[in-house]
Amino acid sequence: MTRILVISDIHANLVALEAVLADAGAVDEVWSLGDVVGYGPRPNECIERIASLPRLTALMGNHDYACLSDISIESFNPDARRSLLWQRETLTDASRAFLRSQSVTPVERGEMTLAHGSPRDSIWEYVMNTLVARLNLDYFATPWCLVGHSHFQGVFQYHLAEDEFTIEVPAPNTPYVLQERAFLNPGSVGQPRDRDPRAAYAIFYPQERIWEPHRVAYDIQAVQTQILEAGLPARHAERLAGGW
Ligand code: ZN
Repeated sequence: MTRILVISDIHANLVALEAVLADAGAVDEVWSLGDVVGYGPRPNECIERIASLPRLTALMGNHDYACLSDISIESFNPDARRSLLWQRETLTDASRAFLRSQSVTPVERGEMTLAHGSPRDSIWEYVMNTLVARLNLDYFATPWCLVGHSHFQGVFQYHLAEDEFTIEVPAPNTPYVLQERAFLNPGSVGQPRDRDPRAAYAIFYPQERIWEPHRVAYDIQAVQTQILEAGLPARHAERLAGGW
């Protein structure tokens, strides 16, 4: 039985990443949907850990992108901006090289398309409502599309007969059987925003066509201490405890 670990939005949270990797156990492949850095206190360490994983496919996220370039970061909120400037200074050359190696456009793997934001605009667009989901249906050729970026674990499920989308939030550890086209979001490893502060990830079983969301608790206080010690915004520490 092939098991593929799907992770996204680690956001330099090494404690959460280690908890996810331990909880997931042995996997055959790892698909990372982007934003390894941004917000959190351990960007280089998270990149080293991700880069060491076997059979890795990695997508570029908007924070990864913003750390690499000198693009204007005006579109980020003030706290995210402060954190980005810190990350730009902290990243090693090796880390930068890894971030640069990530795909800026969607990648196909079997019956899945992988994107950070959306298949139409992989780096920046959010699939947060059924209208955007609908607009993106024509932008990928596979049955299903993986997205991150919103930090919400869930499924935008298309129903052909009714020609409509529903938003499903399968309970953790509950297999979701893939049939009609859908957008699948594993949630965020390092900064969940769906009011469940536990680290989020998913396991995809390609032969069985099963999507299995997971949550795992980690030592949030340890990360909050790291954030404050690094001089990063206190708000980034606070939000981890509430999952927002
Ligand atoms: Zn993110």
